[in-house]
Amino acid sequence: MATRPASRQRKASSGAAAVRSSQQQQPPQSGSPTSTTTTTTSSSRLTPELSLDGPASPLFAGLDEDSAPKENVTVTVRFRPLSPREIRQGEEVAWYADGDTVVRSEQHPSVAYAYDRVFAPTTTTRHVYDVAAQHVVSGAMEGINGTIFAYGVTSSGKTHTMHGDQRSPGIIPLAVKDAFSIIQETPNREFLLRVSYLEIYNEVVNDLLNPAGQNLRIREDPQGTFVEGIKEEVVLSPAHALSLIAAGEEHRHVGSTNFNILSSRSHTIFTLTIESSPCGESNGEAVNFSQLNLIDLAGSESSRAETTGVRRKEGSYINKSLLTLGTVISKLTDGKATHIPFRDSKLTRLLQSSLSGQGRVSLICTVTPASSNSEETHNTLKFAHRAKRIEVQASQNK
Ligand code: ADP
Ligand code: MG
Repeated sequence: MATRPASRQRKASSGAAAVRSSQQQQPPQSGSPTSTTTTTTSSSRLTPELSLDGPASPLFAGLDEDSAPKENVTVTVRFRPLSPREIRQGEEVAWYADGDTVVRSEQHPSVAYAYDRVFAPTTTTRHVYDVAAQHVVSGAMEGINGTIFAYGVTSSGKTHTMHGDQRSPGIIPLAVKDAFSIIQETPNREFLLRVSYLEIYNEVVNDLLNPAGQNLRIREDPQGTFVEGIKEEVVLSPAHALSLIAAGEEHRHVGSTNFNILSSRSHTIFTLTIESSPCGESNGEAVNFSQLNLIDLAGSESSRAETTGVRRKEGSYINKSLLTLGTVISKLTDGKATHIPFRDSKLTRLLQSSLSGQGRVSLICTVTPASSNSEETHNTLKFAHRAKRIEVQASQNK
């Protein structure tokens, strides 16, 4: 069976030893980064500033009230700068951010797409985090499931956005630090944080925290879907969580002759599982359980040009899972769809519990302005538009 320690500790960040508590409400018995039962209570601390539908949220200011069902899902586009190589090669800008919400084509001035937010090439990851991720992280700390995706072709900036580097930390390290800060600022609750890290390659799920955990099965129980046998580690500090990611990245090297090829051909899911309850005696009703999934997707480039069988096979798996993801997100934003095809790919199947219900979803689509990538960028923009159809306002039409 899957491992899901039902232990808690006082203040994960305090370093206190974990204590077993078999009395608390049992969230999922099944261990997984994705089997989720969310128990939110009236004590949930969602403040007006954090509310997704209130005017205080800059992201949603001015959106039509009729679009309420969409508000759990945000779709943003992030441009990266032209790289030094692209500049040397004389690349021109094919697509650009026109203000905060619209993307336009240099070649075709009448073509325009609108999103919840568009980030220009000069935007820092910190700002992307504040606008497109912070509300998902704070929601997860309140008991609301959250999922953040970076989607785009290889070299468009997905890993830069999700992982970053020392100079420019990505959304994953920023989220982990934020989670521990929220714990510090919430003295009346005790938290238990656990992490898991997995990869989906050719529809096979591999545990990046445990090299023996290959080809794991996705299973289902009444609480939802979960990965059988996935390793979950209790984390006591941001540095501890980040060291596990670094170790997981090492495991991705195993058996791979070309890390770059592999990394652009697999999806990675870093999951923070958060349990919290009021300090002191609890009758179990106020236990919050949620999961925050931070996902660096496989490159979305079309595989038409691939000639070898292996690459074609990888490409067809990637295309299918990304297509399914697009369909699932667009049905979630629609709010009316009855059948959502979670089962059509491993990625959506194992995220099913997190994506359905009130879970918050942030899709960050990364693009390069470069003219040589214009067609792939257009494909990404169309994918993002299909995920959440926001019309360009009359005042934004040129
Ligand atoms: P992907 O993961 O989509 O394949 P990367 O994140 O590895 O792409 O980005 C490719 C290159 O572009 C890297 O050298 C990265 O540092 C750089 N890069 C990506 N996005 C940005 C950005 N917003 N600002 C500056 N450099 C970026
Ligand atoms: Mg990458």
